Amino acid sequence: MKLATQLLHGGISEDPTTGATSMPIYMASTFHQHKIGQAPWEYSRTGNPTRQAVEALVADIEQGTAGFAFASGSAAIMTVFSLFSAGDHIIVGDDVYGGTFRLLNQVLSRLGITFTVVDTRDLNAVTAALTPATKAIYLETPTNPLLRVTDIQAIAAIAREHGLLSIIDNTFASPIVQQPLTLGVDIVLHSASKYLGGHSDVIAGVVAVKDAQLAERLGFLQNAIGAILAPQESWLLQRGIKTLQLRMQAHLANTEKLFSFLKAQPAVAKLYYPGDPDNPDYAIAKKQMHGFGAMLSFELQPGLDPQVFVEHLQLITLAESLGALESLIEIPALMTHGAIPREIRLQNGIQDELIRLSVGVEDITDLKADLKAGFDAVMQ
Ligand SMILES: *Cc1c(COP(=O)(O)O)cnc(C)c1O
Repeated sequence: MKLATQLLHGGISEDPTTGATSMPIYMASTFHQHKIGQAPWEYSRTGNPTRQAVEALVADIEQGTAGFAFASGSAAIMTVFSLFSAGDHIIVGDDVYGGTFRLLNQVLSRLGITFTVVDTRDLNAVTAALTPATKAIYLETPTNPLLRVTDIQAIAAIAREHGLLSIIDNTFASPIVQQPLTLGVDIVLHSASKYLGGHSDVIAGVVAVKDAQLAERLGFLQNAIGAILAPQESWLLQRGIKTLQLRMQAHLANTEKLFSFLKAQPAVAKLYYPGDPDNPDYAIAKKQMHGFGAMLSFELQPGLDPQVFVEHLQLITLAESLGALESLIEIPALMTHGAIPREIRLQNGIQDELIRLSVGVEDITDLKADLKAGFDAVMQ
């Protein structure tokens, strides 16, 4: 089945008891066990029909064999990290989500799990970071907010060679653009609060794997930790996923057009977009992505005030988050990456003038007109 069909007919797309073509929301904490040990459902933390439907769908669209749904992307990440024990070491991409760093720095480190941060585009740096205690390589591609692209197949090969798990946070790409499990990665996860949900109305996280033993370990942890996705949210998420292909097509088309538009702006000093042929990561992006994603970052010329720019936009919403139908814009230095000390932030290439845009599906003419108002304001 092709991906566009899987989105609609994959997983458990119909209620087996009633034939309802939209899986009902099963608001039940517990289930009558007519015969002990033979009931299909027992208790909703362990398993719920609505959650199971979305979990099966996620497994299908990531080309895995098992899917898991969590109360947030952060809960999904924490549950995956719970595979590791005191003394274990993880190699982590240097540009991963701030909340992931917070978990590593302030929670997992207290539990005796250590990590080394590297630019995972540099495969020699990844290999150099290996220690006898290393158990996994964890990364995002494209990264946030500089949209750097790592060679997924190469990382998966290094992991396999050294007996490590490879884990990818696929939030920025979505399974339409990139399917890490097909490139040899062991665990793929998402903040489903972004593209998978797509409508800015649900906080959720998902994980998908291929390997049966890994699925069993994650299923155990999901039930033991209990950070599961509730039935209402599970339903909202599967409803969002149904239109993922349609939404992504519109997102990707608008992004390509805005890339050309931004490239022609004298106020733009630098553009970050994996689909830019001048981008050093372009060849790898072209090899592993279908479309280049719908995130664009750009730096204004030194001295131009990004705050003036974003505050003169009428349509594009000044907000954190991404992957929504509506375009969202933010200034990493003041918002999503504001907690990082300025010196370190600059070292990581995140200038004060950097603006991150999550391109929505509005009419392109309106988006361009809105951005033009921002440019007019900063150029005055
Ligand atoms: C938002 C985000 C997360 C965290 O997900 P929540 O659903 O907000 O907990 C993790 N990774 C990436 C790349 C994100 O953008």
